[in-house]
Amino acid sequence: MIQEVDLLIIGSGISGLSAALEAKKYFKNVLIIDKGYHSGGRICSKKINSFCFNHGAPYINKSSKRLNLGFSNFINKIDRVVPFKVSSYKKTNNSVLLVNPNMRSLFNEHLNKININQKTKVLHIKKQVNYYQIKCDNNRIYKSKKIIVTAPAPQTADLIKDVSPAMLKYINRANFSQCITVLLGFNQSFDLPLNSYFYDETGGICSLLNENHNNKYLKNSSLVIRMSDKWSQFHFNKTNDEIINHCLSTISKKFNIFKINNIVSTYCHKWRYSQVTKKLPANASIVNKEKNLGIAGDWTLGPTIEDAYNSGKIVVQKIL
Ligand SMILES: Cc1cc2nc3c(=O)[nH]c(=O)nc-3n(C[C@H](O)[C@H](O)[C@H](O)COP(=O)(O)OP(=O)(O)OC[C@H]3O[C@@H](n4cnc5c(N)ncnc54)[C@H](O)[C@@H]3O)c2cc1C
Repeated sequence: MIQEVDLLIIGSGISGLSAALEAKKYFKNVLIIDKGYHSGGRICSKKINSFCFNHGAPYINKSSKRLNLGFSNFINKIDRVVPFKVSSYKKTNNSVLLVNPNMRSLFNEHLNKININQKTKVLHIKKQVNYYQIKCDNNRIYKSKKIIVTAPAPQTADLIKDVSPAMLKYINRANFSQCITVLLGFNQSFDLPLNSYFYDETGGICSLLNENHNNKYLKNSSLVIRMSDKWSQFHFNKTNDEIINHCLSTISKKFNIFKINNIVSTYCHKWRYSQVTKKLPANASIVNKEKNLGIAGDWTLGPTIEDAYNSGKIVVQKIL
């Protein structure tokens, strides 16, 4: 089956979603396709049994650059987005925004305004004379005059390498940290501040995110343990069991409120592309106008959720 659209956006993370909301003003037929089960990309919440974990971005950090592209408006329209102060291990207070009941719900108000096909992984993009042919893993084929790719830089490079090789030299300069998160579910609640930062003696664990506050309907406690970027990179190839065991032994030694016997659910997630450590060079172009191709994503602007949002708005203006 071949579906034809005016603009195809690859990726339903916040950059793809903001691009789609902007593009609707100019294009009749806009479609997002994404390989994941849910939209949101790295802004995600995982449900395991009765537990809920924000194991991607735990809260919204705004960009250090004020671009005024509607992000404040987007956030202010959602009354479940609340300001919050996190105390860091450096003893500074960061002001962030929290989404209730979980991060993924950030998009609830918008999803019905956009056409999205989830569980659709793009395998190959081919440029024909006047349009692109996009082949996906579920045997679907899309035809589109213009495309915007919002996957993390290495995945974007892989997708566009045949259609716009000149853009690769810049894209390949963008870098991400790797991050391992461990999700624990307890059969009883514990008393812990919402977010505690600490470094254990191995330099491993860098934060504990107590998810309980977020969902008053959950009886049990959920905890996200985030490993430091350095530790994650070094131990990325360890097995999930080894990583979970390291976390369990560290937190049970450090906090006597955690009893291993009370842990009823464990899960480990490895983020190959977590947060941007080096963005696209400022002189790099995010569109190939001649080819009707655009790229967006946090890595084109900066490391925060707001940067990702802004990148989606900007690329649409440039590809028109
Ligand atoms: C553990 C962690 C903690 C973080 N903490 C914070 C924080 O505290 N504050 C903050 O501001 N930011 C934080 N971030 C970063 C933030 O999550 C990102 O900046 C933002 O979500 C990036 O959005 P995006 O749309 O650019 O990319 P993504 O969310 O990665 O979206 C890209 C989408 O492309 C899809 N895709 C990739 N390849 C294909 C393909 N071949 N076919 C179809 N679809 C494809 C993916 O499924 C994905 O949904 C954190 C990230 C992680 C992982």
